[in-house]
Amino acid sequence: MTTATVAAAVMKVAQVPRAGADFQVVEREVPEPGAGHVRIRVRACGVCHSDVLTKEGVWPGIEFPRVPGHEVAGVIDELGAGVSQWIKGQRVGVGWHGGHDGTCRECRRGDFRNCRNRQITGISYDGGYQQYMVAPVEALVAIPESLTDAEAAPLLDAGITTFAALRESGASPGDLVAVQGIGGLGHLGIQFANKSGYRVAAIGRGSENGALTKKLGANVYIDSTAVNAAEALQELGGARVILATAPSSKAMSQLFDGLGPNGQLIVVGAAFDPMEVTPAQLINGSRTIQGWAAGTPADTEDTLRFAELTGVRPMIETYPFEKAAEAYARMLSGKAQFRCVLTM
Ligand SMILES: [Zn+2]
Repeated sequence: MTTATVAAAVMKVAQVPRAGADFQVVEREVPEPGAGHVRIRVRACGVCHSDVLTKEGVWPGIEFPRVPGHEVAGVIDELGAGVSQWIKGQRVGVGWHGGHDGTCRECRRGDFRNCRNRQITGISYDGGYQQYMVAPVEALVAIPESLTDAEAAPLLDAGITTFAALRESGASPGDLVAVQGIGGLGHLGIQFANKSGYRVAAIGRGSENGALTKKLGANVYIDSTAVNAAEALQELGGARVILATAPSSKAMSQLFDGLGPNGQLIVVGAAFDPMEVTPAQLINGSRTIQGWAAGTPADTEDTLRFAELTGVRPMIETYPFEKAAEAYARMLSGKAQFRCVLTM
């Protein structure tokens, strides 16, 4: 009897070997999906500022080596045991919401977004900076045919985050909604706000993005280096919502007084230093600050459908995924126009 040696299929991954280390492109065996999981042949993955949490090992309990990436678009390549509602060849995505347990108190109430044991793609398990990844079915998002992989990828985190934060904000059509930060999230937030019927004020640093934000759907552009942006918002009547996308606690604090009565500062840009707002500022006008993170795969499918219906699309710079380090540095520089996307 002869024994044949079957070489395991290999793939390339861009991994972070340990907290704070540089990216490494290495070969690994193509993983097999376990029960309730699928394997995805990755075709595109967005580079998000929150990938810092993986790269620098900021997330509590994160283990290394780790492959970042939570804006993953691709095709189902293999099904694990017990997977019946998804098929091989189907186009799918995986965003920030990497899975929920279905059994904790929040899940039993249907609040899967806040599952006590939620998994974060690219943090709890390896994400999309690789040629193949494995994901649990409860994290999968169906991608419509009209969106390309590279277009869909940024909508799976930057898109859902800004779309859902605005949709759940309680702002009505015609209300003044400000979008702070003209970057990966902000350039989508402006479009979603415009297509939702809000009066949109875009707030950026410097004059260079003014014309572009108007094209994206902003009615007003406020250059926060030239004027006091909070006062500028008050001159427009005060914002019902300020969607704060740039991860700057100082800028968010300075903007708070741009809110009108019952106004809400919705924080989606993850910074780690404290914001400064006094109790008196909150009490005056019954104003609030709320944080927001992404949404469930069902919310993400709403986002993709809304984008399909209204023409909202990310503006992207694409990089071959072996150049993950270059794309990541470009993202950190703040100069990307506006989302770096790795393609496989
Ligand atoms: Zn749960």
